[in-house]
Amino acid sequence: DMDRVKRTVESDRLRSALLTSISHDLKTPLASVLGAASTMRDLSSGLTDAEKRDLLATVIDESERLNRFIANLLDMTKLESGAIVPNSAPHDLSEIVGSALGRAGKILAKHRVELKLGPDLPMLDLDAVLFEQAIFNLLDNAAKYSPDGTTISVLGWRDQKSVCLQILDEGGGIPPAELESVFDKFYRAQKGDHVRPGTGLGLAISRGFVEAMRGTIAAANRTDRSGAMLTIRLPIPVATEALDT
Ligand code: ATP
Ligand code: MG
Repeated sequence: DMDRVKRTVESDRLRSALLTSISHDLKTPLASVLGAASTMRDLSSGLTDAEKRDLLATVIDESERLNRFIANLLDMTKLESGAIVPNSAPHDLSEIVGSALGRAGKILAKHRVELKLGPDLPMLDLDAVLFEQAIFNLLDNAAKYSPDGTTISVLGWRDQKSVCLQILDEGGGIPPAELESVFDKFYRAQKGDHVRPGTGLGLAISRGFVEAMRGTIAAANRTDRSGAMLTIRLPIPVATEALDT
């Protein structure tokens, strides 16, 4: 009975977190889109070209934010219901990293990106769509939680029977006591006045996807300077391992 009560409390807590987050994360960008679109309709002839471009950029950026948010909600729902079954096949890590970087291009525009992948990386059994999303969420965080103009590093190397992929930034890092809880859904470490927009789903999804591909993901802080360090470790398929050694 205690168990049932605990589960009910837990799911009530999640439901209210979900509602709070949905109402905020849907309403804010939607308000910007509506505002920009109405201004264009009402003042259209009085606007300069530059003003029109700005308003359109707002409509597009905010719609993209909405789109990402809804995609995250759907991913989370699928993970919870067990509907995520990786469609794994041998993949070149650098290709997937490349397409994640490409998709995150706009988000990373104000940062420098340093990409260093070892030359000897073996092919890995991955679902390209899931893995790209897992990396995208880490890149999104690296850009969001570190100052503009700083460097985001993406490192990949082979380590015995696995391949490590690490994403490092030069922000304030993650409070040490919260290195594990940041992977909980709806958990956000950043509190107070300077909270960046977000729902607390990105890392939960990254972990769910990486684990579905038999990998692990962990958060730490850099030791060489301030900044977060997210590490994904993926097993090297046994057949490949035998071929290489
Ligand atoms: P969402 O990803 O759903 O838009 P979010 O970024 O808040 O929202 P997560 O990606 O799950 O959610 O991250 C959880 C929390 O972990 C963040 O709110 C932030 O406090 C902390 N965090 C994650 N990555 C970093 C980072 N690179 N540097 C500092 N803090 C981070
Ligand atoms: Mg995030």
